Amino acid sequence: MTLKPVRRMQANHQWEAVTPLHYKEEGSAPFKDVSRHVLFGDTHIGAELRYFEVSAGGYTTLERHEHAHAVLILRGAGRVLIGDEVHEVACNDLVSIAPMTWHQFRPADGVVLGFLCMVNQSRDRPQLPHSSDLERLRATPAISEFIRV
Ligand code: MN
Repeated sequence: MTLKPVRRMQANHQWEAVTPLHYKEEGSAPFKDVSRHVLFGDTHIGAELRYFEVSAGGYTTLERHEHAHAVLILRGAGRVLIGDEVHEVACNDLVSIAPMTWHQFRPADGVVLGFLCMVNQSRDRPQLPHSSDLERLRATPAISEFIRV
């Protein structure tokens, strides 16, 4: 498929020639109110650039994997679990998630959290936490309060 060299954001806050997708297959992993837009999926670059939007009250899947994430917060504000810490994030922040690091994004109360996420085009499947992983994560009160599974 040949893409136009320039594709603009539409009035509805979606991009020309980008179809909003389900974040993940329903029932495949725990998540709530997340949309996924693949902006670029370039075999020459070997990377995909996706835009995710999490509605107020939603959350991304608590997961880890061998591939890394490079994230730019583009809309709203919220918090992200990275490894053993929960960080506040806001528009224009850069977020690095190293391989095999537990991570989960949640918007701040009453707002949308939108972010760009760059990944390898060819990548391993995310791993979900086992009960032993959850037990370890929940040993930290700030994490226990934060995570949604
Ligand atoms: Mn991930």
